Order: sequence, then structure tokens, then C-alpha cells
Amino acid sequence: MSNLPSEPEFEQALNELSSTLAPFLEQNPEYNKAFQIIQIPERIIQFRVVWEDDNHQAQVNRAYRVQFNSALGPYKGGLRLHETVNLSVLKFLGFEQIFKNALTGLNIGGGKGGSDFNPKGKSDAEVRRFCKAFATELQRHIGPNTDVPAGDIGFSTREAGFVFGTYKQLRNEWTGVITGKALDWGGSNIRPEATGYGLIYYVEHMINHAEGGSNGFKGKKVVISGSGNVAQYAALKVLELGGTVLSLSDSKGSLIAKDGKGFTAEMISEIAQIKYKRGELKSFGDASGALEFHEGARPWTLVKSYDVALPSATQNEMNEDEAKAALAAGCRFVAEGSNMGLDQAAIDVFEHSRTTSDTPCWYGPGKAANSGGVAVSGLEMAQNSARLTWAPEEVDQKLKDIMKNAYDNCFKTGQKFPAKGDKVADKLPSLVGGANIAGFKKVA
Ligand code: GLU
Repeated sequence: MSNLPSEPEFEQALNELSSTLAPFLEQNPEYNKAFQIIQIPERIIQFRVVWEDDNHQAQVNRAYRVQFNSALGPYKGGLRLHETVNLSVLKFLGFEQIFKNALTGLNIGGGKGGSDFNPKGKSDAEVRRFCKAFATELQRHIGPNTDVPAGDIGFSTREAGFVFGTYKQLRNEWTGVITGKALDWGGSNIRPEATGYGLIYYVEHMINHAEGGSNGFKGKKVVISGSGNVAQYAALKVLELGGTVLSLSDSKGSLIAKDGKGFTAEMISEIAQIKYKRGELKSFGDASGALEFHEGARPWTLVKSYDVALPSATQNEMNEDEAKAALAAGCRFVAEGSNMGLDQAAIDVFEHSRTTSDTPCWYGPGKAANSGGVAVSGLEMAQNSARLTWAPEEVDQKLKDIMKNAYDNCFKTGQKFPAKGDKVADKLPSLVGGANIAGFKKVA
């Protein structure tokens, strides 16, 4: 890669994958070539988006679609609208998406796209005009059997509607070209909930395996970062399963439950309303005084005692010191609702604890733990092709089955291909090793 400009996020994701493939590649050297091939996107589309703001001024943004790998099916992955978006970020996300999508067991390839457009502080009309201009170019490159985008940070049901409508208008064609649509336009039941619910279903398997029995989240103290779609539904599912949610956060800081009683479902719904309006968490006025906002801080060091940590905001949101603080706080399970939520040093802290500590913290990587969202996107594609809408219970059951299969696949593959010197792989295998090897092997 020496003659290429530096792409730190993509290189981090690539190094994370390659650092765990050794036990597999040593036994199967014929896969080395596939590993070289898989690192390069099949195609990258870059374009400008010119749109009109509320003052009738022209604005311009950069936009991309990384069509990374279509070995298993149409390129599939979200669109991110955030000022930090660049090619390195989208290549890392598209790369992760390849293996994540493989772990769902569905026929979907990997891709990612987005723009450095910042939806914060924009009016609804401005977001709509941006999305229409964005989709006017994007529509040439996507299609139900070619590339099916969806949402990601800054892009949800409302934005999916704008892209879907633009495609339909320009092509004169009703087709499931984007997932995460509203229900009336062919969206799937449970799609908004799917990433958060799927994360909790995955971690439930981790807890029940490590502790024995089937108590899952009952009585567990859970620290969650983020307050978007993933964090909201993960938090609600934790409550439903008998756990306590001690934090939520956004880019400005963390909201912490002071007395240990945790967030109620009503509080989480109210926060969801604020976030829908692109508001800030600190504006959440809690009359009971049970919550405290900590400006500019992430929750991992603020909460002093917890069992489960679920980074669900964005990439690199937990570092080495924070991972050590989580261990010291008694955390025994960490799983990523976000993509690449942990930096490599944080992963190393937990993986080291897994192999050396009597009280290890077990790590569930995002490409398996947060695969529920794209899995239900895959189910949305199937429903659109069949012109059917499945009941919420049916989709939820399929999601549970997919998360169980993903977990079993990570667990068994981790057992089968332990890293050198891993003496606990039989009982508590590396789920990150298992996820990477199982995902890679299928695509390769
Ligand atoms: N952006 C989500 C992810 O990171 C969902 C992608 C999709 O549904 O296609 O997996």
C-alpha cells in the first residue's frame, strides 16, 4: 500500500482483520491470494452534490459509493451523512460490511456510501433537497440486483424515503432499491429496531454461555454509548429483558443515571424524539433529577460499576484506558453496536483478559454483533421481491435465528482456529477471530 495516500480508518480495519487470520491462513495457504484480492474495492464512485439551501444559495458536498465486494450478492450497506465522511472512512465501513453481511448467511455483498454533508442544523427542506440531488447521481449506479443502499449515521427512514422517491421518479420503476424504507413504501417491520435488538440477542448468547443458564440480561447493569437508532432500541430491549441501562451519550457528552436505577422506557422514547429532531442530549430535561449530563465525556469511565458495555455511537469510541476502566468497573461483556467502536488497543485489553484473567471480559465484534440491521435489510429485499410484508413477529423470529447462527458460527470457528498460545479457546474462544475467519472464508 506504500504508493497510496494514507487511509487510517481503512488500514485499521484491514489490520484488525489480517491480525486474526493467521491460524486459518497457515492451514489454508491457498487463501492468501483471495486475501490480497479482497482488500481492493471492485469499484468506487465519487461525485459532487450541488443543492440549494433555504437562502437560495448553492451548496456543494463530496459524495461516494464504495462497491467493495459482490461475491455473495448485490453490494449492500448503508449511506452515512456526517462531516467526517471521507474515502478512508467509507472504505473501512465497506470492508467491514463484506464480512458482516457474509455472517448473516444471506446473499448480500458489501458496500458503503455517503457524504460529508452535515444534517445537523439543516432544515427538513434542506435535507430533502440534498438527498434528492445526491440520489439523482446515485441512482445511475444502484439497482435491486446491483447495489442496495440503506441508512447509517445521519441517514434514516426519512432520508431513505427521499432517495427511494427520487429513484422511482427518475426510473419510472417501483423497486426495492434501498432498505430501511417506511412501512407503507415497502419497508420491513422491525427494520428500525433490528440493529439494537440484534445486538442484544447476540450478547444474550454470550452471557448465557459464559455464565451457564438462561438469565441473560436479568439484573445486568449496562452502559451504552450513543443515542441514535442502535442505542435506543438496544436500551429498550435491555429493559424488556430485565437489565438496567445506566448511560446514553452523543457527540457532546454522556447522560448518566445517578442513582443506579437507570433509564425508563419513557425517558428513552423522549430522547428518541429529541434525536429525531436532530437535537442534543443535553437538552433532555429530566424532572426527576435521576440523570446527570457530563459534557464532553464518554460513559466508560463515568459509571463506576457495570457488567456490560455496548459502544453504539461511532468508530473508535473506546480506547485502551477506557477498556481498562471498564475491566476495573467489573465489565464482563463488551460488544459493538457501532462499526469499529473499539480501537485496536482496546480490543487487545479485552482479548488479553479473555486468555489470562480469572474474571475475563468477553468481546463481541461489531461485524457479528451489529449484523442484525443489515440482516433485516436483506429480509426487506426478499419481501420487496416477493411483494409481501411479513408480520413483526415473523421478522423478529428470523432476526433471532440469524443472530444465533452468527453467534454459533463465531464461537465454533473461534474454537477451531485459535491463535497460537490461546489456552482458553475451547471454553471461551475469540469471537473476533471466529467472526473474521468465518466471514473471510465464506467470501474468499
Ligand atoms: N449501516 C448499517 C450497518 O452498518 C446497515 C446497512 C444496511 O442495512 O444495508 O450494517
